[in-house]
Amino acid sequence: MVYITILLFVVGTFFGSFYACIVNRLCKNESIIKPGSHCENCKHRLTWYELIPVFSYLIQGGKCRKCRIKLSKEYIITEIVTGLLFALSFIIFEFSYNTLIMIILSSLLVTIFISDFKYMIILDEILIPAAIMLVIILFFQYDIQFVLWSLLKGLIIFVILLVVKLLGDKAYKQESLGWGDVKLSFIAGLLLGFKLGLVYLFVGAFIALPYGIILRLLKKEGVMPFGPFLITSLSIIFIFSSTFNYILNILLGV
Ligand SMILES: [Zn+2]
Repeated sequence: MVYITILLFVVGTFFGSFYACIVNRLCKNESIIKPGSHCENCKHRLTWYELIPVFSYLIQGGKCRKCRIKLSKEYIITEIVTGLLFALSFIIFEFSYNTLIMIILSSLLVTIFISDFKYMIILDEILIPAAIMLVIILFFQYDIQFVLWSLLKGLIIFVILLVVKLLGDKAYKQESLGWGDVKLSFIAGLLLGFKLGLVYLFVGAFIALPYGIILRLLKKEGVMPFGPFLITSLSIIFIFSSTFNYILNILLGV
């Protein structure tokens, strides 16, 4: 148990490093293959021992080995957070399909936090592979009938968000919800079903509220990203789905 948890943390840091790299490159419309990892300042190509997550950063004292410029903390934070989330997935769900699902949700969480906060985008290049992998896992975990129902529930939540978006766009005369939020909600419906899919929207809006208020108080103009709050909501409800179902059934008097 302990060894697997540690192993998943280490694997997670590598994934985190990879995610930070591809998300930034895709959002900036750069190639994800060329050039290899390099210092943004002096273009010095990183050797293999400069690419070890967390470790390299600490050994180099957070500076480029060539030009000594301070490296951005974004990478090391992403690496540590992804490692922790991967390890946590196993601690919560142990040996089960839910661990795999939770690892995919963790990956969505990390990548959406970077892309939506920095670039106001949720990448199709991330959402589509994640959705496909989730469908495959659900197929092995249950059966084809379950998968078809899940796809339908995903579609329903997707359509609800789409209607909210279109009405919102009209009312506010600007983009109210991003397309990425609508597509992400398909995954929410797929995993959570219809009722918890609705709860996901409310919880997402609820945790986004303090951030929205702070932005207003600081008089920051512009639209605020909603994706990070939605994926956080999705992950929380997935972990505590039985508790949420229990509360929901009491409220609905079932
Ligand atoms: Zn450099």
